[in-house]
Amino acid sequence: MTQLRYAQRGTKQSLRARNDVLVLQAVAAGAGELARTDIALRTGLPAATVSAIVDTLLKRRLIRQVGPGDSRGGKPRMLLALSDHHQFIGVHVGSSTIAASRLTLSGHTVRSVDGVPHHGADVVAAVGAAVRQLSGPREGVVASIGVALPGIVDSDGVIREAVNYGWRMMPFARQLSADCGGASVHVVNDANAVALSEFALSSQPSATVALVWIGTGIGAGIVLDGRLYTGTEFRAGEIGHVDTGLSLRCRCGRVGCLETVSSLPSMVGDAGDDAIARYLDGADDAAARGLRERVGRAARELARLLSLLAASLDVTEFVVGGPVVGHPLGPPFLRTTNEALAIRPMPGFPAVTLRFSTLGEHSSVLGAAAHAIRQELGVMLTMPAGATSHATTPLSSAPR
Ligand SMILES: [Zn+2]
Repeated sequence: MTQLRYAQRGTKQSLRARNDVLVLQAVAAGAGELARTDIALRTGLPAATVSAIVDTLLKRRLIRQVGPGDSRGGKPRMLLALSDHHQFIGVHVGSSTIAASRLTLSGHTVRSVDGVPHHGADVVAAVGAAVRQLSGPREGVVASIGVALPGIVDSDGVIREAVNYGWRMMPFARQLSADCGGASVHVVNDANAVALSEFALSSQPSATVALVWIGTGIGAGIVLDGRLYTGTEFRAGEIGHVDTGLSLRCRCGRVGCLETVSSLPSMVGDAGDDAIARYLDGADDAAARGLRERVGRAARELARLLSLLAASLDVTEFVVGGPVVGHPLGPPFLRTTNEALAIRPMPGFPAVTLRFSTLGEHSSVLGAAAHAIRQELGVMLTMPAGATSHATTPLSSAPR
């Protein structure tokens, strides 16, 4: 069952009215089984209001008529469902490549591309090329593009700062929109995107998701009671440069940042694939011992910070997203962090646990699309069960 939840962030005038969103939500949740009268009952809105809104949504091709249902003695009831006409592209900008998927409003992946290379300086052009690969002539229109990337991103799609790329105040949304013929573009921080993808999988409208992104950088994405929490200056979750008290020099220029011990490159260090394989086999040579120490230290420092976040937010589970999820060091890192968290539970709190994001490496693509839908229509997507399994199959450039 697809659910669309009111996000109160719609940018399009016609969907700002909560009633429109309520009707759209009801149609989504009804999965093709509801007619106008049922929607009036479910939403509590007057039948005439529902009918007028349904007409508008049909005209906008956000919903469609699927055929007559049981007549229940009166006039035949015309059943309604979400339309696949409006489609959304989610893009994830990784450290060297781009992945993107085209999704319907009900969360089904229509087509994907993966491994599109970029070289840091040409990210906008590379994202534009990936979008064009997905925008070919097929049914439906691309209503909006969501892009997930590292950095502090404001509500206008300006990247205020991205250390990885050396960007400051870069108007990414505007530049990509210009590159894509004026398309509507919404940019979101990558950790926030994964948090949105986890929220999209939850059936609770007011779920809280605390996500930790571990890759070259470290960040957190927080959905608080059903709302993405970005903070007043869009810096919520910027935990990578919190002081651990250790003495390693960080790429930001300071000493002791969390990223100097708990980021993926810090854990890997100078170990090659062979050394990692020996470590995973339980070997005891110098390289394997080095990895064991670095993974242990990364886990301890992250656990310390997560305890603080757990107490601040009153959460008992953290989700891990980002490159670490698909990395060979991911499982031992997750296990060691959970062990570190279990050693010192806080009074009155159940043990805090960590798990990998449900959609793995592709969660940021789906989260970027969910962000685009949220910004465009004011609703939060809920991924249907079928779409989840489809989305977790390896992305490829082949059409479905
Ligand atoms: Zn730093």
